[in-house]
Amino acid sequence: MPSHHRPSAARVRAMRRAIGIALVVALTLPGCGKALRNFNLISDQEESQLGQQFSREIEQEIKLWRNPEVVDYIDDLGQRLVQHSQRSDIPYHIKVVDTDEVNAFAIPGGYLYVNRGLISAAENESELAGVMGHEIGHVVGRHGSKQLSKQYGLQIITSLILGENPGFVRQLAGGFAGFGGQVGLLRYSREAETEADLYSVHELYDAGIDPQGMATFFEKLLALHDTEPGGLEKLFSTHPPTRERIAIVRAEIAKLPPKAYAAKDSDRFHAIQRKLPAMKKK
Ligand SMILES: [Zn+2]
Repeated sequence: MPSHHRPSAARVRAMRRAIGIALVVALTLPGCGKALRNFNLISDQEESQLGQQFSREIEQEIKLWRNPEVVDYIDDLGQRLVQHSQRSDIPYHIKVVDTDEVNAFAIPGGYLYVNRGLISAAENESELAGVMGHEIGHVVGRHGSKQLSKQYGLQIITSLILGENPGFVRQLAGGFAGFGGQVGLLRYSREAETEADLYSVHELYDAGIDPQGMATFFEKLLALHDTEPGGLEKLFSTHPPTRERIAIVRAEIAKLPPKAYAAKDSDRFHAIQRKLPAMKKK
């Protein structure tokens, strides 16, 4: 019987790198198709290693909010959405950031940061879940690692994963956290934003939470941005809520079979909201 020659891990890695280099070359050629742009050569394990390094650096720059009741609630809500997502097979690390800024962000590998200001600004659980579902959607779509590969090339990303370039990790992490002027890193394409929104609609719906909260929250943020833009800059520069996004979200919801039992709210959400300090008036 012929023996099966399985390529060794090192060989697979080398092959993948060679393909990666060829791809980077191909990507610089004119007329290269969309399929290649969406190609992601980073494995789940590598993405998780990358996320671990980024999160370590980011957490040096931000202040986490450690109230256990608030953290537990946000983790429970997030994990519930994760279970109904299309990428529930990786661990998600969900944390609360101690800032009034109305925002949330995700970094590769399932690391999610929810700002205290977002929890305060949401009117009900459905609005909060809509934004969290959107961030989970970026993880599901692997938008972070795709964006990094596109901007810096696979070789640089591989060296980051291997821990060969700690200074650069620090610099990029600063950008992820919204410090150091590299916010552009998290400025995903409109396609990625829409994809994350659509993932979110389905995560909420499947989790039994009314997805309409996404649309109502976007509308509220648009109105708020006109009257008092303070505290919304990061949200608007990274995930701008637009009329177009609202329309797409509403159209997607309209396609779903009506679900009378979909919850818009929970008592726990309001109990948690009362634990947060009052927002500073800008
Ligand atoms: Zn986004």
